[in-house]
This record gives sequence, structure tokens and C-alpha cells, in this order.
Amino acid sequence: MNRAAMVAQVCGRTEPWDIVVIGGGAPGAGVAGDAASRGISVLLLEREDFGKGTSGRSTKLVHGGVRYLEQGNVSLVMEALKERGILLQNAPHLVHDLPFVVPNYSWWETPFYGVGLKVYDLLAGKYGFGRSRILSPQETLQLLPNIRQDGLRGGVIYHDGQLDDARLLISLIATASDHGATVLNYASAVALTRDADGFVNGVQAIDRESGVKFTAAARVVVNAAGIFADEVRRLAEPDALPMLAPSQGVHLVFGRSFLRSDAAIMVPHTSDGRVLFAIPWHGHTLVGTTDTPIDEPSYEPAPLEDEIQFILETAAQYLSRPPRRSDILSAFVGIRPLVNAAGPGSARTSSLARDHTIHIDSAGLLTIVGGKWTTYRHMAEDTVNHAITLGRLNDAPCVTHTLRIHGCVAPADSGSEIQLSHCDWDSDPLRVYGAEAAAIRSLADSDPELARPLDTDLPIIGAQIVWAARQEMARTLDDVLARRTRALLLNAAAAARMAPEAATLLARELGRDAPWAAAQVATFLRLAAQYNVGTAPSA
Ligand SMILES: Cc1cc2nc3c(=O)[nH]c(=O)nc-3n(C[C@H](O)[C@H](O)[C@H](O)COP(=O)(O)OP(=O)(O)OC[C@H]3O[C@@H](n4cnc5c(N)ncnc54)[C@H](O)[C@@H]3O)c2cc1C
Repeated sequence: MNRAAMVAQVCGRTEPWDIVVIGGGAPGAGVAGDAASRGISVLLLEREDFGKGTSGRSTKLVHGGVRYLEQGNVSLVMEALKERGILLQNAPHLVHDLPFVVPNYSWWETPFYGVGLKVYDLLAGKYGFGRSRILSPQETLQLLPNIRQDGLRGGVIYHDGQLDDARLLISLIATASDHGATVLNYASAVALTRDADGFVNGVQAIDRESGVKFTAAARVVVNAAGIFADEVRRLAEPDALPMLAPSQGVHLVFGRSFLRSDAAIMVPHTSDGRVLFAIPWHGHTLVGTTDTPIDEPSYEPAPLEDEIQFILETAAQYLSRPPRRSDILSAFVGIRPLVNAAGPGSARTSSLARDHTIHIDSAGLLTIVGGKWTTYRHMAEDTVNHAITLGRLNDAPCVTHTLRIHGCVAPADSGSEIQLSHCDWDSDPLRVYGAEAAAIRSLADSDPELARPLDTDLPIIGAQIVWAARQEMARTLDDVLARRTRALLLNAAAAARMAPEAATLLARELGRDAPWAAAQVATFLRLAAQYNVGTAPSA
């Protein structure tokens, strides 16, 4: 993917696009890929970088949602479990099976969760991962050597999936591009155009790199702006009442030694009634998350002090070595685009739907919000089906059930049993690139400088930065250190240390000068300081 070529495609286009998508998060990328693979012309505009919003900041689970089962939302769980299986088949380089253990400290927990998780297995049907099973205290300890032993009565093991969200997102964008979609990051939709009847028929946007304003005519405009969807809806209907009730979730990242396991811990009921996970991820331990209603969405929300303390205290109840503040390597925050189930403008106290919602307003703007990463494909299929009807587009069937995601090395299979893939990201950090790992290795082979880790604490090499600039439309230091590689989310101090060298490599690839690189480093260091919460703020 090459940004200059994408800009040329936008400028050279004389006909309307069938669909213009606003927003390059999971559903937006899914819509672009779904539409393009049906032969529908599509342009995707992303204001920042692909995945800069919520989609690069999730808990990284591909799951049915055990919690929703407890709430009795069986259809939501079944749909998500099916999507989990489809995603594993289509992107085995980015999704793998992960065992979860619910440790039990009360007599009633083992039978209670044991039965519930059997139902979870059943609902997955032919898309099932491994089977759930009740564990003795000894088996629990074997799987989770660092779990608190005092009072441990056993546990229950079940299986779900894990992904690398920002890597999956860039692969979805590449998939869309492979099938003919035009995708542009750093392109902000600032207004909507209308036909003589007042219906939306295009998008006015600004290329934020050149400052050039352009108009993209469209038969259908899809608003997939996530937490900013209400802002985009107001471009069509200035008085539109809000559909979303944003809520932020914090994750803390620690060293691998805190969990020392290939299995994750799932705590089904924290003191505030939430679910908390401690998960092995790229050689680290990711713990989260919280759920704090917020007033205004933003791109770099900061963790609240209470949220950090809550995660530290809850983790301390389950881990034999309680993590301290100074053990936090990174803290990252995502904002959920939760839909107010009672409809636009209703009070926040109403129930918040975790299902997706498609809304078409009186001006014909099609908005897709809610849902979760796991169900992005189904959300995209549903959205494109609506767009076909709305815009009278060519009614080709959806093919994404078996569409391989860019980089997929294993054959996609819609057969009876799904093939489980286990995590070898730690032994092979380039595995997330799938088929393209070989090209990155040969880049590294061509220049010893590119083969060297950029910091001793993370296995990220210069070749990945070069690859991101050449092939993945990375434009800034944040793009390469937060999303094309996950350095910032794994270890903020290490990411800050690698910033100067990464900036030099990026500047060379993008034809930028030394002052540009220095400015990138300065901006990135400010950002990394926000993720580096290892020291408590002074009173
Ligand atoms: C803390 C947390 C943990 C989660 N964990 C999980 C999990 O483990 N598993 C799971 O399945 N789901 C999870 N989710 C849910 C999942 O991450 C989201 O449902 C999904 O990422 C939302 O994608 P989105 O496209 O709606 O939003 P975003 O990813 O935010 O994408 C919207 C994009 O629109 C762009 N945009 C906005 N305005 C404009 C404009 N005017 N012009 C151009 N572009 C614009 C933004 O820049 C942004 O990139 C989690 C969510 C949170 C918050």
C-alpha cells in the first residue's frame, strides 16, 4: 500500500464511489473489505492512522463473551462464537487459541462456572475451540504457577481467542486494498454534500498531509467513526441526538514474570462487578480492564488514578507476587462506542447495548456503531447489505466468511471442524506478518543495521520500521511504534528509547529531513510519558 498512489486514485476519480466509508477502525476496515470483495467500489477515509481509535486499544480477545452469557444474551454470544471461529480460520497469523482459567476460592464457584462454561462450549458448536474442564487445585497451579495459593479450591479452564488488534486492522486494510478498495489515512471527513433532494451524496475531506481539500462523491456514505460517530452524524443532521454513551477502559502491562504462563486468568466478578483478565501477550502480561463513563471522546485518553489503583489491587488478590506501581511498563486506554439501547438521546442510565446498531438518518447517512472487534466481519456484512439496498448497488453476495485476511498462510476452510492455532508470537515475533514475514527477514538480511533490535527490552527490529513505511502506509513515529509494532503498548520506556533510531529510519524512507525526525521524536516522547505511569503522581 502506498499513500501517494491512494491520493492519486482519489484525485483521478471522475465517477462517484459506490460507498465512501468514514473511519478506519475495525468495522470501517471490514466494510471496505466486504464491499471491495463483492466488486463494489469503495473509498475509506481515516482522520488519523488506521487503528488510532478504539480498535488499537482493545483487550485483544476474540471471544463470545462469557459475561454476556451470564446476562442471558445467548444470541449475542452465539454470533460472537461463530465469528471467533471464522476469524481464526481466515487470519491464523493474527488470532490464536488461548486457554483461560477461572480460579476458584469459594466452594460454589467451581460447579457454577463449570456448568456455565459447558454451555459456552455448546453454543460454539462446530466453531468450538478447546473444551472447558474443571481443574483440581494442583492442575490450576500447574497452569498458573503464579496464582495466589491461599484458599485455592481449583478452577475451570475454557478457551477463547487472542488477537493483535492493530496488526489485524492493518491487515484488514491491506485486504481491502488487495481487492481494489482505496484507503487513505490522515484524511479527515469535514462535511457531507447533498443532492437536490437533500440526501447525502458525498464527503468533503481534507488530506491532512498536504492540506488539500477534496470532494468524494458517493452513492452511499457509511459513518464508521466509532466514538466520533455522533460528531459525523451531526454533519448530516446538526440537531441529531447522541446515540453513544462512551466509556473508557484501562489496561496495564507488566513483565511476563507476573503471570509466567501461556494461559490467561479470568476473574468473572471484581469488587465493582466487572470481568478482569490477566493475559499473556507478546511476552508480557496485560491486565484489564475498567469501565468508566466519560463525557467527551478523545484520541489519547489518560488512565484515571482510581482505575490504575483498582487494577493493581484486583491483580494483587490473585497473583502470588502482587504487581506494584513501579512494575507497570505501559498503560493504555480505549473508549467503547457503546450504543444507548433506548435510542438516540435517551438517558445514560438505560442499558447499553453491546450488539451493533445500524442507523440510517433522514438524510440517508448510514451509521454503524457498537458491537465488538470479534464481530467486525458480521457488522461489515450487515452494513454492506444495507448499503446495497440504500444505494441500489450491485447486489453481489458477501464472500468474507472464507476470505483470507492479508498475510494468511494457512488455507481458509469453511469445513466442519476449525483448525486451532497456538501462539508462537513469543518465539517468532514476525509471525503476526504471516506470509510477509519472509520479506521482512530478507530486508533484515540485506542490512545488519535493520536486523538489530532497536532496544534490548523488546524484539523489534529496524526492518519492521522500514517495512511499515514502505508497505503499510505508516506516516509517523506513533504509527510505527504504537500500531505497526506494539512497542508503546508493551513498554513505554523502551519505546521512548527506540524513538530516535526509529525516527531516523522512518524519515529516510519517507524522504523527510532531520528537523522532521526530531519533531517526531519530541511528540512521541510526550506521548510515551503518558503511557509510562510507573511512578505515582506526587500529591
Ligand atoms: C477497553 C476496551 C477493550 C475492548 N476489548 C475488546 C476485546 O477484547 N474483544 C472485542 O471483541 N472487542 C473489544 N472491544 C471493543 C472493540 O475494540 C470495538 O468495538 C472496536 O474496536 C470499535 O471500532 P470502531 O471502528 O467502532 O471505532 P474506532 O476504532 O475508534 O474507529 C473509528 C475511526 O473513525 C475515525 N474517524 C472519526 N471521525 C472521522 C472523520 N471525521 N473522518 C475520518 N475518520 C474519522 C477515527 O479516527 C477512528 O480511527 C474493546 C473496547 C474497549 C474500549
